[in-house]
Amino acid sequence: ATPTSIMAGSGRAAELGILFKGGEHLEQTHKIDTVVLDKTGTVTNGKPELTDVIAVGDETEFLRLVGAAELQSEHPLAEAIVAGIQRKNIRIAAAESFEAIPGYGVEAAAQGKRLLVGTRRLMERFNIDASGAYEAMSALEESGKTAMLVAVDDRYAGMVAVADTVKPTSGEAVRRLREQGIEVIMITGDNERTAKAIAAQVGIDRVLAEVLPEGKAEEVRKLQAEGKKVAMVGDGINDAPALATADIGMAIGTGTDVAMEAADVTLMRGDLASIADAIYMSRKTMSNIR
Ligand code: ADP
Ligand code: MG
Repeated sequence: ATPTSIMAGSGRAAELGILFKGGEHLEQTHKIDTVVLDKTGTVTNGKPELTDVIAVGDETEFLRLVGAAELQSEHPLAEAIVAGIQRKNIRIAAAESFEAIPGYGVEAAAQGKRLLVGTRRLMERFNIDASGAYEAMSALEESGKTAMLVAVDDRYAGMVAVADTVKPTSGEAVRRLREQGIEVIMITGDNERTAKAIAAQVGIDRVLAEVLPEGKAEEVRKLQAEGKKVAMVGDGINDAPALATADIGMAIGTGTDVAMEAADVTLMRGDLASIADAIYMSRKTMSNIR
């Protein structure tokens, strides 16, 4: 690779909003054969909206407590839930205590009640039997929604669901990667059913779901151990270790600073078409000089 061709390639990439941190990353990108895409905020817009509420008791009282549990959480799911509740003009109670349990949900106390909001695994972890709600939950998940179970004073009290939308360009971007001979995998902390429903909308058939926050880097390492050259694409704080572990880390420019710092490339357009563009430009740069 001549410095001149690398510089020219980097310049052309930059014009398309693809910012390589250094020439070596542009050189390495042509070796990529596997692209791992984070789901929320990468394949999807990452702006979920509250769509469904199922309350065992009074719905307003239920949502007041759910809002209290989620008010202090910085998770996009929590923000969606709180915004949805506020839109119904329900005054959210103040929480007396709050703790995020990454990958599972939240634990809080409000109005003297103990609250849990999150996954099936969260309920199981606290020995709460919510199994009667699993069928309704699965139905929501099969339509691509993320449903979260709620327990009040250690009893199942209902669930809330949010829906996120895929970016309009994600399907076409996946198709182009395939044409380049790249295997595309989606990774998420979300449950398998929701993940598969979203993946199907953009033509991805391999999904790694229910991956705990610290597990994304581990999944990248496993692929590398199989001999794959992996590009990881993500936007979130919890994608940072995987972005750093991958052969090439690509951060979505509209995402968190932490992701951009950990990555080798920033995709300023926030659009997955840039991944195929980056690979194309790297291949072109490298073929010109070999
Ligand atoms: P991702 O960011 O990939 O969607 P996370 O690891 O952050 O996944 O979360 C995994 C799952 O844990 C979510 O799909 C949700 O079911 C649950 N969860 C996480 N945070 C919250 C929260 N604040 N409230 C309710 N559930 C949550
Ligand atoms: Mg994300």
